[in-house]
Amino acid sequence: MEFTEEQIERYSRHIILPEVGGKGQRRLLDAKVLIVGAGGLGSPTGLYLAAAGVGTIGVADSDAVEMSNLQRQLLHSTPDLGRQKCLSAKETMEAINPDVSVVPHDVRLTSANILDIIAGYDVVVDGSDNFPTRYLVNDACVMARKPLSHAGILRFEGQVTTIIPGEGPCYRCLYPDPPPPGLVPSCQEAGILGAVAGVVGTIQAGEVLKLILGIGDTLVGRLLLYNALEVTFREMRIARHSDCPVCGDHPTVTALIDYEEFCSLRGSGSVSEEVTS
Ligand SMILES: [Zn+2]
Repeated sequence: MEFTEEQIERYSRHIILPEVGGKGQRRLLDAKVLIVGAGGLGSPTGLYLAAAGVGTIGVADSDAVEMSNLQRQLLHSTPDLGRQKCLSAKETMEAINPDVSVVPHDVRLTSANILDIIAGYDVVVDGSDNFPTRYLVNDACVMARKPLSHAGILRFEGQVTTIIPGEGPCYRCLYPDPPPPGLVPSCQEAGILGAVAGVVGTIQAGEVLKLILGIGDTLVGRLLLYNALEVTFREMRIARHSDCPVCGDHPTVTALIDYEEFCSLRGSGSVSEEVTS
């Protein structure tokens, strides 16, 4: 558990916490976390995980930085316009903390590549902005038994939960079926107060750090709902469904499927039965 003098100083406010200590800081330095999406949620998560000294941080994002991202995606700055987000994210995080090695995954996650990618990580953070990716990441994490922090944000609201396969419900227990296409607007369509991303993404960072440290109570089995206009946090208990198709007692989805198709067909009434069968 050797630290350099610089590390002792850098992490002194962690090390002084009895729940963290030198041992906990070593755990953080040895941990590997994958962030899916270097956007509104992935930015605060990435900033705090890097500052905390999480030694290896993967960033999966195939998009380039756009002007409309800069209102909330603090991993990127104006000079980064047009650059690949995972590279801009890597530069920002490694500048905050040279102890951190950021692995860019400049790919769109699919059923074909996700299991190989998440195999190298201890915890996964979902900061994606679309339903196919959310179901894909959930199913892959359940199948690979990887702890997952899930969150979603829109307008002035956010929701966040923690999924530990085998210990509590998964995203599909909460939302068995994706909403009909077009029913739930995206941030692009409906807007998002930038600071909401900051609050919710920072809660995700806190959850990940606790998972690595093995301390406190996590959001397993609880959905935390944040409303910035009212400044309220509400909490919903969520249960694992024994008939969940992925994490239930008799899973029917045992291999990753085509999630674009799943999300475009489900919920549109007549075809949904064909898809389930
Ligand atoms: Zn489930």
